[in-house]
Amino acid sequence: MSKYVGAWAIYDEDYTEGLDVAFSRYKEAGIQRIMYGGVAHSFSVHQEHYTDTCIDPMLEIDYEAANGDQFGTKCHLINSDITEVRKLAASYNIDIGLNITPGVSEPIIAKHPDLAVEDIEGRKSNHWMCPSNPDVRAYFNGRIEDIISNNAGIKEIELDVVGLDFYDPQVVPDWVLPELYPLRQLAIGNCFCKHCTEMAEKNGIDVNTLKPIIRSLYKEATTLTYDKFTDLSILYRGVFDIVRIFLKYPILLDWLKHRASVVGSFVNEVNKKVKAIDPSILISSDLVAPSFSWALGQIYADQPLFSDITKLMFYHKRIGAFESKPLRKIQVEIPEIADKEILDQYYRLKGFSGPDSMNELSEKGLDVENVYYETRKAKIEVGDNHKIVVGLVGDQPATAKDVEEAVLMAHKGGADGYCLHLWYGNAPKENILAFGNMLKKIGEIE
Ligand SMILES: [Zn+2]
Repeated sequence: MSKYVGAWAIYDEDYTEGLDVAFSRYKEAGIQRIMYGGVAHSFSVHQEHYTDTCIDPMLEIDYEAANGDQFGTKCHLINSDITEVRKLAASYNIDIGLNITPGVSEPIIAKHPDLAVEDIEGRKSNHWMCPSNPDVRAYFNGRIEDIISNNAGIKEIELDVVGLDFYDPQVVPDWVLPELYPLRQLAIGNCFCKHCTEMAEKNGIDVNTLKPIIRSLYKEATTLTYDKFTDLSILYRGVFDIVRIFLKYPILLDWLKHRASVVGSFVNEVNKKVKAIDPSILISSDLVAPSFSWALGQIYADQPLFSDITKLMFYHKRIGAFESKPLRKIQVEIPEIADKEILDQYYRLKGFSGPDSMNELSEKGLDVENVYYETRKAKIEVGDNHKIVVGLVGDQPATAKDVEEAVLMAHKGGADGYCLHLWYGNAPKENILAFGNMLKKIGEIE
């Protein structure tokens, strides 16, 4: 396989349409690997792999079979015979990979609130588990060990957003709090659970010095006045302006590095465990775009140390619907802020280009040129010996033309592979074919 060509697809949609119909379309589009969200829960459970964790894997399996998750229903997936599905897919030259989502679980956190990430104010997330927590690590390592030991032929394990935050920028929830940029990101107030605090101290960070600094910056970030917003927009107007905050508070840089080491060590632990069982299995890790992945503790330059493939998720037509949520929350609190003002600040900070109105950002997303810049950044950071597979939008509101343009931009940026994102649901089928046609046109596949 020269170029990696895959898709993040929804099993229950493919099942309803007919697996043969769906698989033949993927094959026609040159797609050789399918990642189904929740697929990890379709494999059977062998209890001896979970002796080191308080988490019972059936908790998540039963919950998803009954309720699904934010990416749709899962009942057909969890009730199907995954071995038979993998065999059928193989007859179309399609491999079903093992996607596993180590960050989010509402049922697990409802049962074990202690496993959640905790902010500077001591508030626990209802959604995100902490990657430092030994029970969380033992659960995911046990689940992976269980699946690969009992199911032959798994070629790739994809870790879907290992990160440290209260939410994932790709699926920003409605309850997100209004916090001014860029202090929200630069002086990030999580995670302060006891395991993270212990690890920070081990990494040489004086948490007693750090906490008051973060607390005072957090106070500024939640001072929701027009003057404070304007001051912060002016203080951090250009890229070089950011350097001043690290000169003033060098410990913030240590804190961001420490958070990255927590995330990296989680992936590293999985990688070591998997390679010890079967060195041929590839480890891929899903990261948000490099312009802000550090806020989640995801560092592109570190990826070659512990994974084989980095998947850069950048759904340019769709990300606006999520990224506009926290911005709108700020505008609700400070109604004097015009769309253009807050978007100007947002675009400067992230280095993005896009529309001037919040409605347009939300409905149409960012300019496609951002796919090129983020791909190129990622590729330069990881170097030539590590693969960047670019995750491109295939969902609505993207049209076939948007998909084609995104493929071209990723190609221009030096992508080592392409993965079409369909998880938001009801993606137009012509987008899948357009994806394959453009890859053929530019000679990436035959
Ligand atoms: Zn923690």
